[in-house]
Amino acid sequence: MTDDARVYEQARWSDDNRYEPLLNEKDETTVDTDTSLPDDLTRDTLTLPDADEPVVARHYTRLSQENYGVDSGPYPLGSCTMKYNPKFTEDLAARDDASVHPSREETAQGTLAVMDRLQKHLARIGGMDAVTLQPPAGAAGEFTGILVARAYHRSNGDERSEVIVPDTAHGTNFASAAMAGYDVVELPSGDDGRVDVDALRAAVSDETALFMMTNPNTLGLFERDVREVADIVHDAGGLLYYDGANLNALLGRARPGDMGFDIMHYNLHKTFAAPHGGGGPGAGPVGVTDELAPFLPSPRVRETDEGYEFYEPAETVGKVHGFHGNWLVLLKAYAYIERLGDAGMRDTSGKAVLNANYLAEQVDYDVPYGPPHHEFVASAGERDALEVAKEMLDHGVHPPTTKWPEIVDEALMTEPTEAETKEALDRVAAAFNGTRDSNADDAPQNTTARRVDQTEAARNPRLSWHALDDG
Ligand SMILES: *Cc1c(COP(=O)(O)O)cnc(C)c1O
Repeated sequence: MTDDARVYEQARWSDDNRYEPLLNEKDETTVDTDTSLPDDLTRDTLTLPDADEPVVARHYTRLSQENYGVDSGPYPLGSCTMKYNPKFTEDLAARDDASVHPSREETAQGTLAVMDRLQKHLARIGGMDAVTLQPPAGAAGEFTGILVARAYHRSNGDERSEVIVPDTAHGTNFASAAMAGYDVVELPSGDDGRVDVDALRAAVSDETALFMMTNPNTLGLFERDVREVADIVHDAGGLLYYDGANLNALLGRARPGDMGFDIMHYNLHKTFAAPHGGGGPGAGPVGVTDELAPFLPSPRVRETDEGYEFYEPAETVGKVHGFHGNWLVLLKAYAYIERLGDAGMRDTSGKAVLNANYLAEQVDYDVPYGPPHHEFVASAGERDALEVAKEMLDHGVHPPTTKWPEIVDEALMTEPTEAETKEALDRVAAAFNGTRDSNADDAPQNTTARRVDQTEAARNPRLSWHALDDG
């Protein structure tokens, strides 16, 4: 057996059920509760799992082995940038003195100093003038950026009703603009998969508040005409928004601010290696030009002669999240940026692009648009992309993002990241190519969980064993 044919499999039980049982399915015990809290707020008894420490330790170890994550193997989920999360940032975030809540200036000077430095790093990396760390995710950053744009237009006595979004954009761009109350104008891409400048020229008007752009776009293509795009949008009185989810391709090489963007968000949990997944905490700081800084969320942090302080920007849109965002995510990203330095960040984007190009060459599926930057979109062609993805699970890797962007038929959107070795990339290629001549529709066979009902899971999530009990 060649090395590429070896498959890492998740742990599972040998019966049909496969899963580790819940702790309370083993043994339960009922204990009396006795507290000084008011009777109408407390129970008299509480039913708990009856398990001693070794049972609990094995339970959680087995659960971790039933999972698949970026610490188990390649995770080339396109657009999500599931890069390896270095452990030194986890160690820092786990320190007792790291988890100070930055709620009061006097007691949190060190925390505020880190926030101030991170703001400055991000501003420099993006070519922006001012940064807020408050938004807790990329989508929340988009929403914040759109609120800032609206406040800016209103301060000029200018009510505008439209946000223009390319058809290759992430779904959150459409949703954020609609949530902020704008009409969303979808811009069809040109034949080369990039923004069609003539179509944009026809779409902009004095109703255009914002044009949202991702660069490289979600096909992994660099938008070459961005200076011209900026002129078209600015001439119409609109603002230009950079969706920073793909910044990993440009890190240390090109800056959205230099391209003419007015507002951008950063996905710290993508580009700057903070862990994410399962909807877990992220951070979506927003950078803006000087002109837009007065509208940023409050409070902001700044350095003064006496130390660091909070202040309220003159025309702030208000708060978009409790306190100052997800502080420990911010700390991990700060540590990552400091450790890598400018040369390390430049190296990151170079390797991310090299890895994507190498993998695209190894894959036997058609890649209709290219050459790619940090990600590429292959087409499953005659096959259903979801079936290919499910089959890749049986080859022991996490599959790509499927069926998006929609301008590629049966899309398999693949982003290996800079963190993978050549051996790991070859393993992903072998997984892709192993599905090439198959027509299976009952994969995966070898994973702990087989087909789950994705619609039911999204619409009626049962998040505790109480919900299971209730049927
Ligand atoms: C991930 C992503 C977003 C949204 O970011 P979240 O942090 O998941 O909310 C927006 N645009 C693109 C292109 C993305 O890949």
